[in-house]
Amino acid sequence: MREIDGIPLLIAEELLDEGIVVAFTTRVGGVSASPYDSLNLAFHVGDCPECVIENRERVCRALRLESNFLTCAEQVHGSDVVIVDELKRAGGARSKASAIQGADALITALPETPLAIFTADCVPIALVDPRKRLIASVHAGWRGTIAKIAEVAVSMMNELGANPGNILAFLGPAIGPCCYEVGNEIGRRFQKEFGPIATQVAGHIDLQAANRALLQKAGLHKDKITETNRCTSSRNDLFFSYRADGKVTGRQGVIVALQRRF
Ligand SMILES: [Zn+2]
Repeated sequence: MREIDGIPLLIAEELLDEGIVVAFTTRVGGVSASPYDSLNLAFHVGDCPECVIENRERVCRALRLESNFLTCAEQVHGSDVVIVDELKRAGGARSKASAIQGADALITALPETPLAIFTADCVPIALVDPRKRLIASVHAGWRGTIAKIAEVAVSMMNELGANPGNILAFLGPAIGPCCYEVGNEIGRRFQKEFGPIATQVAGHIDLQAANRALLQKAGLHKDKITETNRCTSSRNDLFFSYRADGKVTGRQGVIVALQRRF
């Protein structure tokens, strides 16, 4: 974690030299008032839109990205992965209504097209094939995880020419197995789908472990999957948590972008 222009960010430092940005935000460094304090990046949660725009601008400025091109998914807890072309670029940059409808993951090969996913407990995932210069952002809550969205995103990247052996994955701050207690039905479904790796703590599920398993199944090398291992609920001071904040809260996020080839 490091701070740029007053914004704490978790950054994949090793990719910066290649002109690729992967950054996870926290709840710190923005202008939104409680319960969205303070770096809320999402329009749909009830925060004032001007505050969201200012927060997004602060993050993009710190990352040297253009906030007007920020491209956002509607995020409906499904498994639809959408390829972002020139027409879809900047969807959701200025309003909730213009976000890419029905999508929970975005893929692009376009430079200067930052892809965003906003979360508060769900797992934000960035996928990068540095050789093919192809990137993706993925929203994986329990529904999306059961629907295998991370695996679907990798297979779509492969169709576009990515090599799964070259893909790097970054799993951002999300609710950990320490805090993610679920009902019997969801627990059973995770047990059936992922086995003991995602259900080690009785009555709790491990979203990150389940997504790591999906990514390995999709062909990613174990050592190319990086986890931040930070629990949004345990570290509610640093992250928005849908569970810990009592449902009305802000969203942090992941931003993935290719800088123009230099
Ligand atoms: Zn926790």
